[in-house]
Amino acid sequence: MDKIIYLDNAATTKTSPEALAAMLPYFSEHYGNASTIYRLGAESKKAVTEARDTIAKSLGAESPEIYFTAGGSEADNWALIAAAESYEGKGKHIITSAVEHHAVLHTCRYLEKRGYEVTYVGVDEKGILKVEELKKAIRPDTILISVMFANNEIGTLQPVAEIGEIARKKSILFHTDAVQAYGHVPINVDDLHIDMLSASAHKLHGPKGVGFLYIRKGVKIRSFIHGGAQERGRRAGTENVPGIVGFGAAVKAAFEGMEEHSAKIQKLRDYLTEKVLNEVPFCRLNGDREKRLPNNINFSFDFIEGESLLMMLDMKGICASSGSACTSGSLDPSHVLLAIGLPHERAHGSLRLTLSEENTLDEMDYVADAIKEIVDRLRQMSPLYEDFIKRRN
Ligand SMILES: *Cc1c(COP(=O)(O)O)cnc(C)c1O
Repeated sequence: MDKIIYLDNAATTKTSPEALAAMLPYFSEHYGNASTIYRLGAESKKAVTEARDTIAKSLGAESPEIYFTAGGSEADNWALIAAAESYEGKGKHIITSAVEHHAVLHTCRYLEKRGYEVTYVGVDEKGILKVEELKKAIRPDTILISVMFANNEIGTLQPVAEIGEIARKKSILFHTDAVQAYGHVPINVDDLHIDMLSASAHKLHGPKGVGFLYIRKGVKIRSFIHGGAQERGRRAGTENVPGIVGFGAAVKAAFEGMEEHSAKIQKLRDYLTEKVLNEVPFCRLNGDREKRLPNNINFSFDFIEGESLLMMLDMKGICASSGSACTSGSLDPSHVLLAIGLPHERAHGSLRLTLSEENTLDEMDYVADAIKEIVDRLRQMSPLYEDFIKRRN
């Protein structure tokens, strides 16, 4: 295959060589079950403990507050469903945002069918949660607020500290889906009053199929997978030792040089953003300029279809996304882009580019030129564009 320019790191990342190297011995050498008492198993247990300690430290949490799961979706499902069922004695009302990942939104729909009430708080045109609206939504029977740390489509960072404080004052549980933010921006669960937090290894150069749910000590939510006594009896199933070890290694690397990595990626991001905004007419950047993940770009191009753009970028070896990975393949425009007020046509013409440290300035030039050429070509074929030009002249 020709060279690939990978700009879809919000969908998944390449497992780093360090994470892979850390994992390999746990497949065929240290393959013991971590719950056994012989030495082979003890090695696995030790490795899991080390990864758990690394992760706990990265959040300012205690090791027993970290529960490994099979990814971000499982952590989100667990947090919402188990919190709802464990606290229903207090009430059956949940507050979330209109721009959550489907792992949260579809779980809320599931809970609604089971008699819970969910309020979906809106966002402004930059994608930032309307905190006043959130405050007004709180009722005596509200048991949970779940708002994501950073949005997976437009990269907007939410006012998590403010939300945490509101939740704490009202004694309401606060969960945050930090899958996009964890390992990319600093997070301290105590400073931010976070009670539960979801994360996933494959979004920060770890392996796929492993994540965790942080559950603050004292938060009594039921177990999610029933069976063995793993994860202190709250999440049964033989530990995914290689996955957990790879996760730990990825976290270590992400946190060690976070500021440096972010600065480097942000520079590439801003370069590409400016270049495209300057060179491609009828194009805008979605999301907030400042309160944004360091690696996220989301453009809307008038008069074109995001799907055609993606296919033509792929021909040039560029991997990108329109809307979120989960919605591509369906014709519905992204719920996030609609929530920030984009009309349907403009939401359809959107392009998400999410960078990593492996990208280079040369690639940014190549990508900007490719976008310019393809958008131009697609517009030449667009009756909407033809119409617009005719009317304008
Ligand atoms: C990717 C993602 C998830 C799902 O995580 P998986 O590990 O793929 O299940 C959940 N929330 C957000 C914000 C994500 O970006």
